[in-house]
Amino acid sequence: MKRDFDRSLLTRPELRDLEECGGTDQRQSRIPLRKEQYAVGHAVNSMYLYTSATDVCMEQDDPDLRAALDRIWNDLISRKIYVHGGVCANQHGLSIRGDRVGEAHGNPYELPNSTGYNETCAQIGNFMWNWRLLLMTGEARYADVMELCLYNSILPCIGQDGASWFYMNPLRWYGKDQELKSHKHQHERYQPTVNSTCCPTNLLRTMASLHGYLYSMSDDGISLDHYGANVFDGTLLDGSPLRLRQDTDYPWSGKIVITIESTPSYEFIIRLRIPNWAVGASLSLNGVSQSSELKPTSYYEMRREWRSGDVIELDLPMEACLLVAHPKIEACHNHAAVKRGPIVYCLESPDLPDEIHVSDVRLPRAIALTPKCEPDLLNGVTVLEGAALRVEPEDWSDALYRPLSLKPLDEIDIRLIPYYAWANRGPAEMTIWMPLA
Ligand SMILES: [Zn+2]
Repeated sequence: MKRDFDRSLLTRPELRDLEECGGTDQRQSRIPLRKEQYAVGHAVNSMYLYTSATDVCMEQDDPDLRAALDRIWNDLISRKIYVHGGVCANQHGLSIRGDRVGEAHGNPYELPNSTGYNETCAQIGNFMWNWRLLLMTGEARYADVMELCLYNSILPCIGQDGASWFYMNPLRWYGKDQELKSHKHQHERYQPTVNSTCCPTNLLRTMASLHGYLYSMSDDGISLDHYGANVFDGTLLDGSPLRLRQDTDYPWSGKIVITIESTPSYEFIIRLRIPNWAVGASLSLNGVSQSSELKPTSYYEMRREWRSGDVIELDLPMEACLLVAHPKIEACHNHAAVKRGPIVYCLESPDLPDEIHVSDVRLPRAIALTPKCEPDLLNGVTVLEGAALRVEPEDWSDALYRPLSLKPLDEIDIRLIPYYAWANRGPAEMTIWMPLA
């Protein structure tokens, strides 16, 4: 029997859309998921939907659903993800099919910086989705996405006091001149007294379970999906005990020493992920260099009868590099971001002289950025230092536009910090994307 109810009860616009149109992009219900082309609508909910749909694909053969997830993943990764892994461009907007959406994916290449919403839960959702895709396929590209999100758009949520937290993760910040879109009159991380049941708890359970994401198992062996100093003390899938140790300063260094401490005495595979940024990676086993090419975004497989005391040394070169954005990302025209290994960097005003604004700095295209370990800064970080250029600071008062100044640019020494560590030194200006000189 068809049921009816008082439609005036549908006060939220997205619910009215749902009723009138038979579905809405906000809730991924306008188009049946198996026919969907796009990452669309509420970013957190969409990620949870794609995550659970991937679970379905792991349990049963569903080629239409699998193909849809591939299309959506390609749309997200080639048109809608921020350089720091954020996947929620808009607080409010219209979807590609004209539905009102909130806390949502943008349209293709719509990736604003200061208003980039990037709810922490959306990146955690993307992390969980890509973990399942990794388990389903064994493809390194999914682990690359997990790593990008983890270090650069999940970790920034939490302050270095261990208690304050962000809901949104913008890429540009104007300090006290800007308030967070997620919470009015807020210019920095919230204190724990600000009530929210999603991002802080979601972040804590992700961090508390992080060890469960580092390795994955298959019938033929073990994969090292993410690196960090730790000991694996577990079993292969057949129950045989295996213990190995990673000694490394990752993510500040790409040198990883893996020692097999105890192993079953039969042949199995150890797979090592070569991240997408690791060009020119090299590897040795018990001091003997391996001549095979280690391709970025792949797993390097080592099949042998392992012995206790075997040592693998993996070297993933971490050169600081300038990234530029697709020309259709309007907010990033003629700008560059800086990444070293898995870490995205930013320029923050406490690292500049008082009279210089973040927006005054220009990056030379051939800038040499030198890593420097700073154990006493921001709980211990590796910063990048280099000689940049700056425009003359100007008082803009009420002017909105003015003729271009032809004054020569002066040099200025800059220090970039990991983006995840921003907003720990009081309200400050910050940018990931910097104008090129
Ligand atoms: Zn949240």
